[in-house]
Amino acid sequence: MTKEDILNRIKEDALNQQVPIISDEGIQYLTQYIQKHSVHRILEVGAAVGYSAIMMCMAADDVTVTTIERDETRYLEALKNIKQMGLEDCIQLLYHDAFDVSLEEEFDLIFIDAAKAQNQKFFEKFEKNLSSTGTIITDNIDFHGLVNRDLQDIQSKNLRQMVRKIKNYISFLEDNTHYRTRFLKLGDGLAVSTRI
Ligand code: SAH
Ligand code: MG
Repeated sequence: MTKEDILNRIKEDALNQQVPIISDEGIQYLTQYIQKHSVHRILEVGAAVGYSAIMMCMAADDVTVTTIERDETRYLEALKNIKQMGLEDCIQLLYHDAFDVSLEEEFDLIFIDAAKAQNQKFFEKFEKNLSSTGTIITDNIDFHGLVNRDLQDIQSKNLRQMVRKIKNYISFLEDNTHYRTRFLKLGDGLAVSTRI
């Protein structure tokens, strides 16, 4: 199997098992971002089966990705995928709850893509690991288009709660004077927060 075959297999499996991997548009943006801004060290919160970590790793030479996954099944799948792609040296996969991980390193890019209700907590936990010119990118800011809908139009209470939390996160980013955030309508919505 070629690398491309393996990538297609990873994407197909993810689709079949309803693993929410990043959209093509989203990963294309991240790839270009990495290339344009000479990103070297990346931290990802939420590896799932390793798809986005693999893609970021391949975006440029001398990129390293540290990525965290708390679900055992997904962690094992990610481990397998990273190995099959031959990217063990590029990707450090941590099997932990991100809130239990403490890192000393600095990163040029932090990609937050884990439990959507916890975005602000992830942001606040890991911003100390962001380099002085670094950027934090958060995925699923549109939450399947639900974030743009009125809360009372959303039937499920859990979903409403989730959307409320994402709306609060958007306000948190807008009001955060240490970062300038752009909200991009790419894929499921990306927030790109750069240190000022
Ligand atoms: N970044 C992946 C998709 C991640 S899906 C890609 O685009 O390919 C979100 C993942 O975050 C899930 O697998 C979930 O298990 C994980 N997750 C959620 N909360 C977490 C936490 N607190 N610590 C570690 N992983 C978490
Ligand atoms: Mg995502």
